[in-house]
Amino acid sequence: MMARNPLLRTALGLAAAGVPVLPLSRGKRPFGNCPACTGNACGGRPNMKTAGACDCPHVCHAWAAATTNPDVIASRPWLAAWQRAAYVAYHPGGAGLTVVDLDNEHAVTWARATLPPTRTVATGRGEHWIYRGTMRSANSVRPGVDIKSRMSYARWLGTGTGTLTDLPSAVRRLVEAEETTRPRGGVVSSPTTVATWNREVATGCRHTDAYVRTGLERGLVKIRACTEQGAGSQAFGVAQFLAARHTTCPGPCGLDVLGEQIVAAAVSVGVPEPYARRAVANGMTTAPGRTA
Ligand SMILES: [Zn+2]
Ligand SMILES: [Zn+2]
Ligand SMILES: [Zn+2]
Repeated sequence: MMARNPLLRTALGLAAAGVPVLPLSRGKRPFGNCPACTGNACGGRPNMKTAGACDCPHVCHAWAAATTNPDVIASRPWLAAWQRAAYVAYHPGGAGLTVVDLDNEHAVTWARATLPPTRTVATGRGEHWIYRGTMRSANSVRPGVDIKSRMSYARWLGTGTGTLTDLPSAVRRLVEAEETTRPRGGVVSSPTTVATWNREVATGCRHTDAYVRTGLERGLVKIRACTEQGAGSQAFGVAQFLAARHTTCPGPCGLDVLGEQIVAAAVSVGVPEPYARRAVANGMTTAPGRTA
């Protein structure tokens, strides 16, 4: 029988594909617990961090209620919830997935510069980037970036576009980085002594030394001004801008040396080195007029 409620219909389709689902309220949140489950008085569901024996038929315990069982999803208590619901949510970890939830355009720009492409789904102001594989969930691993996988839920907004790829270490490291306290405020020295740009490495550059050094220094100032996160995307932008200045030079222009300095500046304000390298490499290769 075809479910009449469109959210329930979507939910049953997802469940049949092995994706655990739950209803979300208009406020994009799970419905609250029933009286018996209030304050976790029931002990919680078996799949929760502190496992309990709750088998409440209502949609209690947020993500932990998510299920692929069509009898539960279409049960009377759940039907009541679907009728009040505004969205379908899913439990990414339960489907073997991780969602990188990018809240705004700035976060999306950062992801494009630093993460490998995968399936993406447009959200209100941002995007979900979905990878194959699970990990611990964490909120605000960067400004506007949440990781939703185990013990979490994400809004279902359609299948999106692009090919699902494996969860990269760059995403795993976001949560590890969040767990370690990173020194801030320029007290970090660069990991290695960074070579400075000079004419010897740029024998085929058309520009004057002053032009190249001034351009680089302006870029580094911009990156170092990002005491908050955002330095990664700034590094991407600076690398892209500087590389674009040299598209008509016969080369070599010593761009790798400039790149090292950009990486060091980003690292000095707290960007993990692998991200900084990736951002700079991507900036250099996507500079307008460059082919590789
Ligand atoms: Zn309950
Ligand atoms: Zn309960
Ligand atoms: Zn040049």
